[in-house]
Amino acid sequence: MRFEYNIIVIGGGHAGCEAAAAAANMGCQTLLITMDMTKFAQMSCNPAVGGVAKGQIVREIDAMGGYMGIVTDRTTLQFRMLNRSKGPAMWSPRAQCDKAKFSAEWRRMLENTPNLYLWQDAVVDLSVEEGKIRSVTTRMGVVFEAKAVILTAGTFLEGLMHIGRTHASGGRAGDAASHGLSARLAELGFEVGRMKTGTPARLDARTIDFSQLEEQPGDEHPCKFSFSPDTEVVKHQKRCYLVYTSKEVHDILRSGFADSPLFNGTIKGIGPRYCPSIEDKLRTFAGKESHQLFLEPEGADTNEYYLNGFSSSLPWDIQVAALQKIKGFENVQIYRPGYAIEYDYFPPTQLYHTLETKLIEGLYFAGQVNGTTGYEEAGSQGLMAGINAVLKIRGEEPLVLRRDESYIGVLIDDLVTKGVDEPYRMFTSRAEYRILLRQDNADLRLTPIGYKVGLADERRYARTMRKKELVESLIAFVRQYSVSPQEIADYLKSVESTPLTQGKKLYDVILRNKVTIEGLIDNISALRDFIERQECTHEVIEEAEIQIKYHGYIERERHIADKMTRLENIRIRPDFNYNELKSLSIESRQKLTRIRPSTIGQASRIPGVSPSDINVLLVYFGR
Ligand code: FAD
Repeated sequence: MRFEYNIIVIGGGHAGCEAAAAAANMGCQTLLITMDMTKFAQMSCNPAVGGVAKGQIVREIDAMGGYMGIVTDRTTLQFRMLNRSKGPAMWSPRAQCDKAKFSAEWRRMLENTPNLYLWQDAVVDLSVEEGKIRSVTTRMGVVFEAKAVILTAGTFLEGLMHIGRTHASGGRAGDAASHGLSARLAELGFEVGRMKTGTPARLDARTIDFSQLEEQPGDEHPCKFSFSPDTEVVKHQKRCYLVYTSKEVHDILRSGFADSPLFNGTIKGIGPRYCPSIEDKLRTFAGKESHQLFLEPEGADTNEYYLNGFSSSLPWDIQVAALQKIKGFENVQIYRPGYAIEYDYFPPTQLYHTLETKLIEGLYFAGQVNGTTGYEEAGSQGLMAGINAVLKIRGEEPLVLRRDESYIGVLIDDLVTKGVDEPYRMFTSRAEYRILLRQDNADLRLTPIGYKVGLADERRYARTMRKKELVESLIAFVRQYSVSPQEIADYLKSVESTPLTQGKKLYDVILRNKVTIEGLIDNISALRDFIERQECTHEVIEEAEIQIKYHGYIERERHIADKMTRLENIRIRPDFNYNELKSLSIESRQKLTRIRPSTIGQASRIPGVSPSDINVLLVYFGR
């Protein structure tokens, strides 16, 4: 056993696993310390990965060389591309996963990652010397030294679980809480806050009458998350189901409100607005007589089902009585009730963009401890903290992804610039350059970056470059190929598009609404020959089509993003004294002093810093 590592990661959740894998794969001797090694990347809540904007994040993690996409593909039970009917900026992959296999696959991958070591224990103390992190001490009294430490303790710090009037200490159901660490960090000068989240009851499938439920199948032609050829699309999909609450269900739930820790003042932490409990929904939408819920399998070999949308901390007997009034659930038995959990977090404005803390050099925070919610948000922060810890140890430039480059960049910039006043989850609306940040092009955007820092491997990089080349050559082909009206008449008729009156470049035909490259292949032999000769995959064809159809939008966003990048390039000294600039408003001076933005671009996004204050900064720092 060694007692000295380059990097120590505290916590084997979604953030910790990505952080440890990234650091080790970049060549650093890394130790991952976690409280329970049978629960790596445990899905504390929904056994699903991805969804709107979150799916894009997973594609980005994968493109950079992270593991979440690979593990998801290998444990998928059902795949759906959400928002297919909208533009490609909104397409969001989502996979229902086998919860137990997801965790087991993570463990298998971590155990087989060179440079990565594992230790099952709880970290109870940190030691700091001259403002730098030195070591961690575990509950068993072992001291491990490191050049960098990444804290990813999730919902475990002083975790307190609530079901009705019953409260118990815990990090999540079945796990002990982590005590003392947040008090120690407060003692070191960190601001600590309190948040809450919740989860629904898990149901026993043997007691559900599925014949009464509405089925929700997966996609007919499922896709996958990872760009690598090491995973396959799911072969045998499991069904999900839709169920609905009713007035009767609501009446029973309401009868427990007096005992709800949410409503009787017991819970002080702020909960996720976009993942509300069922009792929150009844309060907010008091007039609504029915809510849609999703019944989702937790695994291929278990009878456990998750009831998405029914998160609750009402007394367990109220939860069961209400469930039994739902159609198909008349005889339902549960494995465990829903519950809420309160936990400590650290307001993320205490971090640099690298996720290193401003207070202690070499100490990084990632995941739920930064006030976010969700596996994808956690995983992406872990990845970036892992990468940046390695770069710092190597003495290299940090890696900060820009807002026009990735959702990960948007997430981290939002956290460190604006802070959070409720659990932060990603939405497409948080990104100003949505058409640039699509799930289909995450590899083109990020694999070269992942490769440059030494995380994405040579094979992955070569595949991405080949894809880029093929997309460009396919676009060049359709730009120069003129199609005759006769050649395409039948096809245009079949998609109800007006016939051509004279020859036209294929590119211009593809711009039409219902025309697709896949549809044209059967009708235009020259196109078919080109695609076969070049061995263009479905992925390449789809990418080329998106780039053609959305060219105008993409160019416009690129132009705006480039303009903003100029502001991102004007740096502000970290020790700059804003009180020197008397023409700044007092509010701005205070906020700029607290956040200490590294560029004028970042300063412009701090709430309360006005455009005229930005002009003052621009004049001072020189355009
Ligand atoms: P976690 O997954 O919590 O992992 C933390 C890890 O750190 C664990 O492995 C733990 O053992 C380890 N650890 C903690 N302290 C120590 C220590 N001192 N020493 C060593 N190891 C330590 N997300 C949503 O998006 N929507 C939801 O509706 C939702 N509901 C939730 C409901 C509940 C009840 C819970 C518990 C979580 C819910 N989540 C939800 C959040 C989701 O689970 C987290 O966002 C995600 O797991 C965060 O990942 P993480 O890696 O930051 O932390």
